[in-house]
Order: sequence, then C-alpha cells, then structure tokens
Amino acid sequence: MTTATALFHDLTGAAPHGVWSSPGRVNLIGEHTDYNDGFVFPFAIDHRTSVALGLRDDARIRVVSTFDPVPVEVALADLDTLFPARRDEIVEWARYPLGVAWALLRDADVDAVSGVDLAFASDVPVGAGLSSSAAIEGATASALNDVWQLGRDRVALAQAGRLAENDAVGAPTGIMDQMASMLGRADAAIFLDCRSLEADVVDLGFAAAELELVVIDTGVKHAHSTGGYGERRAACERGAEIMGVAALRDLAPADLARAEELMDDVTFRRVRHVVTEDQRVLDTVETLRREGPRAIGHLLDASHASMRDDFEISVPELDLAVDTARAAGAVGARMTGGGFGGAAIALVDQARVAEVGVAVERAFAAAGFAAPHIFTVRPSEGARRDA
Ligand code: ADP
Ligand code: MG
Repeated sequence: MTTATALFHDLTGAAPHGVWSSPGRVNLIGEHTDYNDGFVFPFAIDHRTSVALGLRDDARIRVVSTFDPVPVEVALADLDTLFPARRDEIVEWARYPLGVAWALLRDADVDAVSGVDLAFASDVPVGAGLSSSAAIEGATASALNDVWQLGRDRVALAQAGRLAENDAVGAPTGIMDQMASMLGRADAAIFLDCRSLEADVVDLGFAAAELELVVIDTGVKHAHSTGGYGERRAACERGAEIMGVAALRDLAPADLARAEELMDDVTFRRVRHVVTEDQRVLDTVETLRREGPRAIGHLLDASHASMRDDFEISVPELDLAVDTARAAGAVGARMTGGGFGGAAIALVDQARVAEVGVAVERAFAAAGFAAPHIFTVRPSEGARRDA
C-alpha cells in the first residue's frame, strides 16, 4: 500500500515536514439519538487516515490522495469565497480537507499561516459506515492545528471537521464521528452528550475479557436511505413538538405512556426508539463500569430490535447478520449506523470469532445474499502526530 509519505514524495520530490493520522469509528450503541440532542457511545478504530504535510513558501494549499491522485490546489485566501457558495467547483473528496482548512481559517489570520501540501493515504474503507470522512477531517485538522500553531483543543478540531462536512461538503451530519476520531483511546469508547458536547472516555475492557468486536459489512446500500433519514428526523421533530419539549432527549421512558395517547402509531414508535435508545446508552455506560463488557450484550440486542421494529431502518441482510451472530454465540449484536444497509456489529469471544464469521457467511449464501465483508476492529487511539 502506498503510504502518505510515499505519495508526498511523488508529489513534491521531498520528505514531508511531519505525518499525522486520525481513525474511523464504530458506534457501539446510540443510533439516531444524535440529532435528538441525546447520547451516543462510539469508539475510534484501528483503521486510520494518514496525512504527510509539507510547508510551501507561497500562500497556497494543495491536496492529493491515494483515493484520487489528481492534485487539487487553491490559494488560501480563496477558501473563503469557495466555501460554501462555490463548492461545486471543487471535486467532492477535496472538499473534505480544503473544507477543514477553510473552517480553521475562519477564526484565524490567513496572512499569518504558511502554504501547505497535504498527501493522504488511508486504510479506512470508504462508505462502509466506518466514517472515513471523519478520519480525513481529523487528520487534516490535527496537522494544520500543529503547523499553523492555532492552539485549538480537540473538541474545537472536531467542530471544524463537522463545519467542513456540513458547509463545505454539504452533508448534514452530526458531530459524533469527529468527536470519536479526535478523542478515541485504546480499549475505550466516547460517551458523548450531543447537547452539551460533554464527552467522557469510558473503558470498554474488551481486551481483558477476551472479547472482539466483529464488523459484518453487508455491502447493501438502499436507494431510499436519504429519504428514509429525512422522514425519521421529521417524525422525531413532530414527536418532540407534540410532547412540548425542545428535543426527544428531554423525555424519559416514563413519559412514553402519555406519548402513546397523544400520537399516531408510527410517530409513537419513532419516539419510543429514540427515548429507549438514549436510556440504553446510559445503561451501557453504567453496566460497563459496574459489571464489564460481557454484561452489555442484551442492550445491544435490544437496540437492534428497537431499530428493526420501532424505527424500521433495518433490512433483511442486517437482521440475518445479527440473528446468525447471536445464534453462533455472540455476546450481543446490532446493526450500526444510519440504517437501510451498511454494517452490523457483534461482540464475540476471541475463541469464537472464526465460528461466527463462517456461520454468517453460510447464512448469507443460503439466503441468496451477496457475500458480506467480515472483519474485527479494536477500540483505538484518536488523532495524533506520528512522525
Ligand atoms: P464514510 O464516512 O461512511 O466512509 P462518507 O460518504 O461520509 O462515508 O465519506 C466518504 C467520502 O469521504 C469519500 O467519498 C471521499 O469523498 C472522502 N474521503 C474519505 N477518505 C478519503 C481519502 N483517504 N482520500 C480522499 N477522500 C476521502
Ligand atoms: Mg462519513
């Protein structure tokens, strides 16, 4: 595999000034709670995007990636007119790193910073729900923060990544992915309050319990995922309005009886998913602290059932992956990510990882589904300087 340093050398003929990297992430539990001001519990994974950076003696920024080796170059002073209004002039992938530079420079003196060349290489699969987008944003933000001596903290760098993704790329996402990528720690997950942005690093203890986190990427991407996402968001807003609260975060499971009386069945079930999912995140954190990771399996299972039956965002491939993994001995399993396709995760005894994989592959073949991509991920360290 081409490294960021090798790509940088191809581009400039020189060695880089430094190398930074930032990981993708998996959400352990807390789905569709982020835009309801609620709780999520993601962890950074051992797949990273690296950037090799060199300083230039002009005031321009150039980016290149193994993903698309055609370099894109603009003047730093032009970023402000490119984003967000003229973003269509920039090839989509380059909007991520250039958007981060734009976001950081909004609160900095553009004349005080040096021009830069950035070369990216990554082993985060793109579009598999592991947030390759947060990884490239995190690598860019960390590198530029250091060499431009901006002194921003990790939460501010996550916010710059989100601003880039929302306004420079044009993808309306929350801040979970960027926070996980910036704040990750080995064998730990980030308990994030999406309202206050308060983040707690919580030990997972997977290694000591000899557990592995298996990802089953179904490869399914349903055409109606965008429309489905919009419909779910609208239902959540409707539910909050009916209940007279700012966001579903402000409801507790005890409020659900009243919600059921006031709402149509579909809206109620959407609300019930979010309210119970928030509670499951809190319970997962509490259970990990008191009893350790083997005790969280039923919460993962309940999360999946809620997404399947109440939020209705699962697909037959995800249900089969989850059911088969459980039947083959997984401690717990659930779909992860926005739904309508993508990946499932299963918490599995190290000794049973191969068995679970084979069982899922066989079940997919028997059902006539395309072969899934199955691999393990380890909860890992967030953004850092590597060289
Ligand atoms: P996900 O974050 O789930 O992988 P997204 O659609 O949010 O999927 O982000 C994927 C996009 O991010 C890619 O299509 C590409 O534009 C950009 N991207 C991610 N990683 C890289 C990379 N290493 N080099 C260039 N662009 C990348
Ligand atoms: Mg993404």
